[in-house]
Amino acid sequence: MSQKFQGLPASPGIAIGSVWLYRPSQTQIEYLTGCDPKEEWERIQIALQQTHDQLEGLFEHTKKEIGLAQAEIFEAHQMILSDPDFLTTIETNLNNHLYNAEAAVQDGINSFANMLLALESEYFRERSQDVRDVGKRIINNLLQVIPQSNLLPDHPTIILAEDLSPSDTVQFDKRFVLGLCTRKGGPTSHTAILARSLGVPAVVSAPFDWTSFDNEPIAILDGEKGELLLNPDITTLERATEQQTNIKRQNDVLISLSHQPATTVDGKTVEVAANIGSNHDAKLAISMGAEGVGLLRTEFLYLNREQMPSEEDQIPIYREIFEIMADRPVVVRTLDIGGDKSVPYIGFPEEANPFLGWRAFRMTEQHPEILYQQLRALLLATTSTTDLRIMIPMISSISEIKRARTIFDQAIEDLKIEQKPFTNKIQFGIMVEIPSAAIQAYEMADFVDFFSIGTNDLTQYGLAVDRTNERIAHLASPFHPAILRLIKMTIDGAHAKGKWVGLCGEMAGDPLATTVLLGLGLDEFSMSANSIPQIKENIRRLDQKACQTVAETALNLSDAKDVIDFLHNDDQLKQKMGW
Ligand code: PEP
Ligand code: MG
Repeated sequence: MSQKFQGLPASPGIAIGSVWLYRPSQTQIEYLTGCDPKEEWERIQIALQQTHDQLEGLFEHTKKEIGLAQAEIFEAHQMILSDPDFLTTIETNLNNHLYNAEAAVQDGINSFANMLLALESEYFRERSQDVRDVGKRIINNLLQVIPQSNLLPDHPTIILAEDLSPSDTVQFDKRFVLGLCTRKGGPTSHTAILARSLGVPAVVSAPFDWTSFDNEPIAILDGEKGELLLNPDITTLERATEQQTNIKRQNDVLISLSHQPATTVDGKTVEVAANIGSNHDAKLAISMGAEGVGLLRTEFLYLNREQMPSEEDQIPIYREIFEIMADRPVVVRTLDIGGDKSVPYIGFPEEANPFLGWRAFRMTEQHPEILYQQLRALLLATTSTTDLRIMIPMISSISEIKRARTIFDQAIEDLKIEQKPFTNKIQFGIMVEIPSAAIQAYEMADFVDFFSIGTNDLTQYGLAVDRTNERIAHLASPFHPAILRLIKMTIDGAHAKGKWVGLCGEMAGDPLATTVLLGLGLDEFSMSANSIPQIKENIRRLDQKACQTVAETALNLSDAKDVIDFLHNDDQLKQKMGW
């Protein structure tokens, strides 16, 4: 009998195949006493060394296959192995309780993880999972248990798990991973992030029941709808297979055209770029026809670590990306943390409204050195051909732009004094994601080379809708005429001063938005790599003049629903876009 489980979409696409239940065996640990501390300590030393070597292997493998930033988690795991408190607890267990090695380690892991769980900071609480992950690995080595991930089938499957830790996920041979589905985790969990960078569909928070599985049943995993369907009937299976074939066929055609420019029928060319967060994304972006990077989110470099990344830590990561992008433009957004992304070493205060609080560029009032250091690292990572475009997030006033510019000029001047080489193709811009920046775009344009509109936050702040609150998610539409007017003000203000405007919020990759954005005069669209072929094709079918009329009508409608209905029902558009 077929069964449907509704979870949360975490990575798009449809996977069809047999499921593989990833349930790492719950290793039974016997607690023994009266053991010889010296012998047990020697066993532990061997297991710690084996664990260290395995983590080193995982680090190298992930660095090669995915990227340095994603690999760094395994360096953090290696650090747990030499944590002095952890090792002291183990030694005390051996010497005072005469425990066996397995019990001494398990007890040490429990105290370490519980200590982290008791801390205020969410970051540290999340790290307790890493400690348990490392603990499992040490115990497996002590017991010489082969981790289940080594027993993965040698054929493609949809992997179902309670949760997947980073070390689980990267060990899967990606040729055999059709999709990932977990009972736990949110759309920003490790599973989701890795699935997206591997380009496989994923669903998280799917409330499936372990008892409902017989041997490797067939399933359909819909990463768009967030659905897992077990044992589908033959008609549903045929429909999903057809859908998958159609998606693939359409995608193949679109991808084959994706390296052509996005020029409208009346001859206006716009730039289509990618939003990326790693070197893996950069490679994917190029294969999908990206003409540059419209948003490199740099937060990943600062999260998941115990201390601020140094200039030397940052340079090779940026350089890898710049080398992949060669002479294509790369818009790099400087650190955008705070809000829902906090890091322990910066000392974020508890705030009643973190999204309206001390975040992103605002932090530089107290910590200008963070931005200064990042800018230096970015400049030093460039090659002579890099087309670097620095973008400052969360700007609300002209005085902030001036302050950012002072730090930027200082970084450039210092590197010149130090006679360090860097590219001479550099632009300086800001994100327009706070309504005040859109309203003052005309005046702000004097101080920047470009704007990029962040509609995710512009919608949040323009409509006062918390973007993380699922109860009011339906109110957060960038199609609201007020948001369209803010976009128009930004574009008009910049164009009046000869500056260009991009858009890097999710709206740029939404096919329904292409006409309006073209009509408003947007110069650059930036989106996740997989959306590029479709959006480029949409642009090539449209007439920019006709889009202006569409945009004018949309701006004067009453609310988001009217705009969406209007765009859906426009006959001329339907024909052109094949809706
Ligand atoms: C935005 O706000 O639209 C944006 C692109 O930035 P982020 O989603 O990273 O806040
Ligand atoms: Mg934003």
